[in-house]
Amino acid sequence: MKTKIAVAKGDGIGPEIMAAVLRIFEAADVQLDYEYVEMGKSYFDAGHSTGMTAQAKETIERLGLLFKGPMETPKGKGVKSINVTARKVWNTYANQRDFRSLNGVNTVFSKAGIPINLTIVRENIEDTYGGIEHLLTNDVAVGRRIITRPGSAQVIRYAFEMARRKGYTKLACGHKANIMKLTDGLFLETFQEIAKEYPDIESSDIIVDDLCMKLVSRPEQFQAIVLTNLQGDIVSDLCAGLVGGLGFAPSANIGDNISIFEAVHGTAPDIAGRGIANPTALLLSGILMLRYLGFTTAAANIENSLLYTLEQGIHTGDFGDKEIPSVNTDTFADAVIANLGQIPAKGAVVGQPDMEVKANHDHPLKNKLTVTSTTTKEEMVGVDVFVQSNAQPDELAALAQRKLTDNFQLVMISNRGTQVWPTGSIFTELVNEYRIRFEKIEGSEITQKEILHIAADLSEDFKVCSVEFLMKFDGKIGYTLAQGQ
Ligand code: NAD
Repeated sequence: MKTKIAVAKGDGIGPEIMAAVLRIFEAADVQLDYEYVEMGKSYFDAGHSTGMTAQAKETIERLGLLFKGPMETPKGKGVKSINVTARKVWNTYANQRDFRSLNGVNTVFSKAGIPINLTIVRENIEDTYGGIEHLLTNDVAVGRRIITRPGSAQVIRYAFEMARRKGYTKLACGHKANIMKLTDGLFLETFQEIAKEYPDIESSDIIVDDLCMKLVSRPEQFQAIVLTNLQGDIVSDLCAGLVGGLGFAPSANIGDNISIFEAVHGTAPDIAGRGIANPTALLLSGILMLRYLGFTTAAANIENSLLYTLEQGIHTGDFGDKEIPSVNTDTFADAVIANLGQIPAKGAVVGQPDMEVKANHDHPLKNKLTVTSTTTKEEMVGVDVFVQSNAQPDELAALAQRKLTDNFQLVMISNRGTQVWPTGSIFTELVNEYRIRFEKIEGSEITQKEILHIAADLSEDFKVCSVEFLMKFDGKIGYTLAQGQ
């Protein structure tokens, strides 16, 4: 009996490379049945605000697996990216992106005889990809960066399990916790906690800018790296560059119930419709998907043929030896089909432990909610009120002082995160949005309602842009200090 999966052909080069890959699957006698779903640019254009039909959503939720071509989200219409929506709505929390040197794909490193085999695991749901942004004044836009303990734990545990499965001995956590102490700090802290459960994997952490420098100078020292969403996105494109470009970067978006397999690259509008796109990244993503479904023999067969084809110097226009004429997408797929059964010079791929085999698909009855601790003692100690103002810091402080009740004190005013009151520098340039920090007087009892009253009182003199409470968790402050505070 064949396994049924959902397939979305995608936009731009999507239909061309998807057709090529499915033709290779058919030739390799892969036992899959496809239910095609309606997703992508034309469905936005037809008025579906999420870029997919209700039927597509139903099909993907029923089948639990989507093989997708790249998709375009219309720009300037205020709609959210279909690719990000799909990953977020269905909670595909781990984005595994495998990068390795391939014979026939020349790079600086292959020419230097340095093989690359590394995997990026990118958190796939949270971070700035929450897409929660506000223009607070005409001059100031603010985005929320959401990092959660349960979300970090899910992807970090996935990364450790994957490292074990692949026989890796090391896993690094890339981060910027030196600057983003609470968000990246939480991600790093979770990594260090979970690392204790995997003593067989050497864990380390590295600041993301240092990581980038080391990846381009000595990539062979890394095996697997787990990162938050945006940093993981950027670092994985860097890694694609190390192994020959986006044409060779597959990706698996893994969730507990639904998973999505797609290439890292986009719709390549500059070459769409010409039949010249490289189908390798989508084929490699398809190979990961076959392993995930348990079709390990077919996956190895196709992978051997692909590697053999690349070794023969057969290439599309985006890579390869310029002395050898390039072939189009269909001819490349024909070559992979003709080479089925061939073994690459590097040696045969047998059963790669790339993916956890997940043949069953669960359908939850309600939304899953994870809370990691019910015993943490929370205490509200103050508030940051963000206001729009063209005043100088001293003037602002005088106005704010007038709103104080007995329980509160004005402790600090900052502009773009830099303290400008009670002390600061005359050289700090200002924009028209300030943060005014009030803290409770030691020993006083305050309520959330009283705090909100401060903001309400300030609104008599200013436009209040937003309010953030200052909290302590088990006595530890849950907010950062201003620069210079
Ligand atoms: P892109 O990846 O589409 O193209 C970047 C460059 O790489 C182009 O020069 C393109 O020709 C080339 N390229 C990409 N894939 C190729 C392939 N298979 N064969 C040969 N050359 C290839 O990135 P972009 O131009 O920034 O984005 C174009 C569109 O794709 C945008 O609408 C973007 O939002 C969307 N996008 C979608 C996804 C996805 O569906 N997961 C990912 C990234 C971008």
